[in-house]
Amino acid sequence: MNPRDLPAALPGAAASSFPALAQTVHGQRLVYLDGAASTLTPRCVIEAIAHYQSFDHANVHRGVHALAERATTRFEDAREAVRAFVHASATREIIFTRGATEALNLAAIGLGAGLRPGDEVIVTALEHHANLVPWQMACARSGARLRFIPVRDDGLLAVEAFEALLGPRSRVLALTQVSNVLGTVVDLAALLARARAAGLVTVVDGAQAVAHAEVDVQALGCDFYAFSAHKMYGPTGIGVLYGRESVLERIPPLFGGGDMIETVTLESATYAPLPARLEAGTPNISGAVGLHAAIAFLESFDRARLLQAEHQLLAAMERGLSALPGVRVLAAGTPKQGALSFVVDGVHAHDVGTVLDRRGIAVRVGHHCAMPVMRRFGVPATVRASLSVHNTLEDVQALLDGVRETCERLR
Ligand code: PLP
Repeated sequence: MNPRDLPAALPGAAASSFPALAQTVHGQRLVYLDGAASTLTPRCVIEAIAHYQSFDHANVHRGVHALAERATTRFEDAREAVRAFVHASATREIIFTRGATEALNLAAIGLGAGLRPGDEVIVTALEHHANLVPWQMACARSGARLRFIPVRDDGLLAVEAFEALLGPRSRVLALTQVSNVLGTVVDLAALLARARAAGLVTVVDGAQAVAHAEVDVQALGCDFYAFSAHKMYGPTGIGVLYGRESVLERIPPLFGGGDMIETVTLESATYAPLPARLEAGTPNISGAVGLHAAIAFLESFDRARLLQAEHQLLAAMERGLSALPGVRVLAAGTPKQGALSFVVDGVHAHDVGTVLDRRGIAVRVGHHCAMPVMRRFGVPATVRASLSVHNTLEDVQALLDGVRETCERLR
């Protein structure tokens, strides 16, 4: 590889923080390029969860004993850490969910309750199924109509088409920040500003963004922002729905039960204020503690430098792949964040993934829960390589060598 390809600051310095990277896979050094599916867990997150579970665990919000108070403090401290992480104005605006999928469903069901026949929900043709199917369901329930901002060949949205879609019945704009297939970045600022001016409620799927660029929901001006902890070095089973308080207040509770009520009679109940109103039942307390530790881990880096280094590493990966005969990177040449997808002429993505796995290289293959994007680009499946803070130029080189071998063996 040409030395000019070398990133200014390789983020791989963090590799020793990940116990999983100390192992070999099929006798080879593990090269983990699948953080977009789920990031590896750093030691500090594992230890924070183990410590909480060993010494602090009790139920939250309902006990007076020492452990119950400690657990409640740790849970609510995590909420405050999330608030600061996304720059929300109040912890009331942070709802813990099981992940981005549940967060987006909560938004779609909540907003869907206010939709009327003939209303319109606008999504993009770039969405993960988690930000598409819930809106299809909300439209089916309410009689509203789903409309789509198309994707251009370069992987960006046809922004002018949004203008044409806007009408008197437009109610919601739901869109991703970063494509989980292509890695292309949506120009949120322009779209959100236009949607806001037209009176739409806006929902952003930040699942592929939070581990890479800093997020400021107030600067973005979105009404909802959803993400999962496990794609940003935290545990599975916990995620977040940020909601602007005035919009969140209009959402009816999805679930009833403990913690979300104020008073209950046999016939009826009144609900607790936010955020408890939308968090029925015992929450994922250790998950919240793990998410808190993951935020601290991410913030231990110079985020701007990290982002720059990741960009350079991804650009080196794209250049190297594009130079291999028979390899095509989707949305080639368009700036990307964290991930890219490619196909190898005449070789199924699963076969590429299998050869790479034998070399200890973990990538994601398939439709990436975004079948409409596959259809748009005329491919049944792609290979997706994605970057985490531990990746280095050596990892990129290992991928390039592996793909070259795949081409030689299988084409
Ligand atoms: N949105 C995007 C863009 C994603 O990439 C994913 C997961 O891959 C999700 C939503 C769903 O996340 P989860 O499965 O953690 O709920």
